[in-house]
Amino acid sequence: MGETLVRTVAIIVAAGRGSRLAEATRGQPKQYAALGGTTMLARTIDRLVASDSLHHVQVVIHPDDSDAYDTAIRGVIDRSHLLTPVTGGATRQASVLAGLEAIAPLAPDVVLIHDAARPFVPDETIRAVVAAITGGAAGAVPAIAVVDSLKRGDASGHVSASIDRAGLWRAQTPQGFRYSEILDAHRLARDAGRDDFTDDAAIAEWAGLSVAIVPGSGDNIKITTSEDLAMAERALSGQVIPDVRTGTGFDVHRFAVGDHVWLGGLRIPHTHALEGHSDADVALHALTDALLGAVADGDIGKHFPPSDPKWKGAASHLFLEDAARRVRARGGHITNVDLTILCEAPRIGPHRDQMRSRIAEILAISVDRVGVKATTTEGLGFTGRREGIAAMASATVVIV
Ligand code: MG
Repeated sequence: MGETLVRTVAIIVAAGRGSRLAEATRGQPKQYAALGGTTMLARTIDRLVASDSLHHVQVVIHPDDSDAYDTAIRGVIDRSHLLTPVTGGATRQASVLAGLEAIAPLAPDVVLIHDAARPFVPDETIRAVVAAITGGAAGAVPAIAVVDSLKRGDASGHVSASIDRAGLWRAQTPQGFRYSEILDAHRLARDAGRDDFTDDAAIAEWAGLSVAIVPGSGDNIKITTSEDLAMAERALSGQVIPDVRTGTGFDVHRFAVGDHVWLGGLRIPHTHALEGHSDADVALHALTDALLGAVADGDIGKHFPPSDPKWKGAASHLFLEDAARRVRARGGHITNVDLTILCEAPRIGPHRDQMRSRIAEILAISVDRVGVKATTTEGLGFTGRREGIAAMASATVVIV
């Protein structure tokens, strides 16, 4: 959003209930339907807040949709110009009026009124509408000339008349107006008991305002049916930024008396054991935390508290399997994990490939997605003094 002398606010009407998309949206209003990795409403908001022609965006929602709205706007790229939503009325017209009244304290010069179901509005359309009004028009509507032949059908499904399409236009949104004039027009319509207008240009026209037609766009489709939604989804495929997550993990266990360690899911003979509540597999613990971190689901201590006797002596592959299950429950695919073990001894090299295979098996991923590396710390620090073993890990997860 940029600085222009004319203060311009956009209202997005998103209070509708009816959905011809009930199946595709699981009964949710269509503006909350999933679309290209986010929601239709988030995409519509993104288009408007990205426009240099607008200063603020006011969304009008249904009173039942507060939670759906809060969830939807998490997908909005820039919320800094988004005003707190207001609730609408029983009709689209009443909802627009609620939005117009709500932005009064901002004293806008120009208001754009846009349907939530048009998530692809190009910036050129927004600019053309604003330009028409700053150029002197009381209102402006983007529209496309009708090119199809128009027929009137009778009750039996036969053509009863052909309509001359000359001079006919298909109106889109956003429709723009001088703020005080469209607010007055809406109040007049309400006071006159009129609630049958299908768009704001019709109210403006009824109130005697002159409304200019500016070029609309074929991209600015209104998503009404499940076919529209499927087509929009196809158009967006390939443009969706994949939801890639990474997580890191780190763990340390000290040496104790013993003759083997558990490391990377393997039992490795050694001069000492590792001390811990479970089998103390420091490598699998680091990997577990990396996976949990990738989906922001706490850490190993939260899910398997050392205070719980149930996990005494537990095999650590159970922890790692649980973390993988949590990732998958969120729709996550583990694309790779990478492990670094820090110790002077035992030597990891001879066990590396078997360790990779074991971790791949536990995570149910292919072995070429599992990295295992080891390093000494040149005799420095606690690992250098052979007091214990440290491990660090990273995991990459793609949510689909
Ligand atoms: Mg541990």
